[in-house]
Amino acid sequence: MSLIKKGIIASEQIAIGKVKLMRKQEVSVTTEKISDDQIQLHVDKFNKALEEYKTNLSNTEVDNDTQQQVIEAHLSMLDDPFLTESVITKINENNSSDKALKDTIDEMVTMMQSLDNEYMRERASDYKDIGQQLLYKIKGIEYEKLDSLDPNTILVSKELTPYETSIIDKSHVVGFLMDLGGKTAHTSIIAQTLGIACLVGMKDITENVEDGQTVIIDSFKGVCIINPDEETLQEYKNEKNKLDEEKTILEENRYNKAITTDGKDIDVMTNIGNIEDLEKGLESGGEGVGLFRTEFLYMYNDHFPTEDEQFQYYKNVVEKLDDKSVIIRTLDIGGDKELPYYTFPKEDNPFLGWRALRFCFDMKDVFDAQIKAILRASAFGKIRIMLPMVISVEEIENAIEIIEDNKKSLRDKNIQFDENIEVGIMIETPASVIVAEDLVEYVDFFSIGTNDLTQYILACDRGNDKISNLYNTYNPAVLRAIKKVIDVSHENGKWTGMCGGFAGDTKATKLLLGMGLDEFSAPAASIPKIKYTISSTSMKEAKQYAEEILKLKRTSEIETKIWE
Ligand code: PEP
Ligand code: MG
Repeated sequence: MSLIKKGIIASEQIAIGKVKLMRKQEVSVTTEKISDDQIQLHVDKFNKALEEYKTNLSNTEVDNDTQQQVIEAHLSMLDDPFLTESVITKINENNSSDKALKDTIDEMVTMMQSLDNEYMRERASDYKDIGQQLLYKIKGIEYEKLDSLDPNTILVSKELTPYETSIIDKSHVVGFLMDLGGKTAHTSIIAQTLGIACLVGMKDITENVEDGQTVIIDSFKGVCIINPDEETLQEYKNEKNKLDEEKTILEENRYNKAITTDGKDIDVMTNIGNIEDLEKGLESGGEGVGLFRTEFLYMYNDHFPTEDEQFQYYKNVVEKLDDKSVIIRTLDIGGDKELPYYTFPKEDNPFLGWRALRFCFDMKDVFDAQIKAILRASAFGKIRIMLPMVISVEEIENAIEIIEDNKKSLRDKNIQFDENIEVGIMIETPASVIVAEDLVEYVDFFSIGTNDLTQYILACDRGNDKISNLYNTYNPAVLRAIKKVIDVSHENGKWTGMCGGFAGDTKATKLLLGMGLDEFSAPAASIPKIKYTISSTSMKEAKQYAEEILKLKRTSEIETKIWE
């Protein structure tokens, strides 16, 4: 009998393979107190485990950047004096090395999980991972081998820790199924990087499969089929062959311009947070950057980056782009994005709180430093400035005044910059949609941030699993808002792009094209498919398709039409 199980889509692909169920041994710790003369022995045990784990990490053969990052992150956590000091203090209080370690890790994990930030919460798994590895070493337990798997393996586990994901034999894994985890979990990120199928948050998948069983993952639809019948298996084999052929065509065409069959030229750009994203985006056929999320420069730092530090970074980005352009979004911090060196006041509703432009207007020195850095870098390539979370004309006027003041101070010092630098805004609040007719006069372009726009229009937290079924950009309210914004920009001789996640949803490409979107900015992995879809569609056909969809009143009807 076959069984269908649902999960959260973490990486879209079809996979057919055999289950390898990862069983993790539960390790119990010694709770009895140790005597004073055993203390040194336990300190030595802990230190030995620490050194062994560090050696393992340093000797791991690395084959991609993500793996390298995991290893470096773990090495730096292991070097954190807090970890060692806390464990040794607890051993000195007559706790066994394993209990001292477990208590320390539990404290760290609880602290990380209490943070109001999805990214930091996911990083708690790094600490769990380190704890598990060290505990295995202290207890002398052999780790399950993941570095030599059978071809076409579907790895099923409660969750995979970053270390586990880093040692997996990736050449043979075709899919992941996890009981736990969200879209930003390590397994999800690895699966996206490798382009393999992954479903997370499946709750009890480990209890429903056995080693060696045949499983199909259709993560486009968010399901896996355990023990499929012959007919289903054959259908999916055909589907997979089609996808593989399509992938080859997409790769071959990724550097071609995206021009519809009736001649409309569309810009397909990439979203970046750092130089690596830029390299991946360009390699996938991105024609520039439609969103540079600068907050990562601030988040992975121990101070607000100075004007010079930012200038060097932005200059490096434009130089790598040659004659392609980049839209640099000014700092969008606050909400769920915190800074390690700055304590934000506790807010009841951080997503509706002191974030993005609101923060920048109050932290004027921080904003000035960023604006100056962007302006200076604009002397070296084509840069546009983009303001996040706009709700009013006053905010744009205020931001433009600040930009003009900074231009003047650079001019006074004879520092070069692009005098005609364009300024656009993100459309990601309902207010900006409602008054788009007013805002459009003050800007050169709009870029729709569907991640926030969806959450604010639908009053539905973008990171809350409980209501993830409601958080849906295909909701007619969101689609009509998008259409209105595009129309307003065109009526006023301006253009509209999209840099939210919806631009990277390749099922939505034809719809967005038909709605008149001028620019798509998406993660690297979606770019070849977006370009291919645009190049094989006519504007006439896309417009008609969009008109039909925009008439529908139910999200479910829209999704059915999209899947046809
Ligand atoms: C968005 O809200 O759609 C967006 C692109 O910004 P971020 O995801 O960084 O909030
Ligand atoms: Mg946003």
